Amino acid sequence: MENGGNTPGIESRRLKQLIKSVFPETLRPHLRRMWNRSCSLGVRHQCPICGSWLRSFLPHGTPPDPNCVCPVCASKAPHRLAWLYFQQSPELFQSGGLCVHVAPEPELGPRLKRRAESSGMAYRSGNISASGEQYMDILDLPFADQSVDLFYCCHVLNSMNNDLRAMREVLRVLRPSATAVLQVPAFYQGDTTLEAGAGEEQRIRLFHDNGISRCYTDTDYVHRLETTGYDVRHFRATDLPEWQVNRYALKAEVLHVCKAAESKN
Ligand SMILES: [Zn+2]
Repeated sequence: MENGGNTPGIESRRLKQLIKSVFPETLRPHLRRMWNRSCSLGVRHQCPICGSWLRSFLPHGTPPDPNCVCPVCASKAPHRLAWLYFQQSPELFQSGGLCVHVAPEPELGPRLKRRAESSGMAYRSGNISASGEQYMDILDLPFADQSVDLFYCCHVLNSMNNDLRAMREVLRVLRPSATAVLQVPAFYQGDTTLEAGAGEEQRIRLFHDNGISRCYTDTDYVHRLETTGYDVRHFRATDLPEWQVNRYALKAEVLHVCKAAESKN
């Protein structure tokens, strides 16, 4: 009687404790993926990163964006678009080159690493919490000038207080022929980028997330990149066949594919 309303929660905790006591920690992520894959099995959608066929993706964000997160590998629409771009761009992966991935996503990082290494490229990744291969600060990259062939970061620049300094630092390490995929949300429809600054209250009020500094307009983001010294090309979800947009639940996402402008070299 006294715990009747909490029974499902108690049972759930007991089940988790039982799983913890029976299965070693190294096996649990695989079991979780198998369980999520079987619970979400369908034919309408597919995650191009983990390959799972799904009834739907999970909602995400505030307000919730429906059909967004893969229930198996946790990829989001921006990661899926980036992975499709990498898959159809074999010229980016050159033997002997260096691929750098800042703030690697748990589902995308290992796959990009395998893709790079299978082509004979070195792969280095990290972030400021040192949860990747190493500590890596996009404001102070541990690479020589013009030493990187492929650079990727997703939704990092929009979190930086000083995004222009980060853009300059990435440009410093790029070889003249290198590509930097600098992915950000660039869909704000106002006159120019919506800036929250460094204040937590303003960030929460505007973006419901203390980790986000701004939402760019596409025009302003391209302007900032070009002013820094990049040539910028767009790769949009809408560049792909409609069946791919629907199958992979890609949204109105865009990749900004950047190269050092020739005047910089
Ligand atoms: Zn997935």
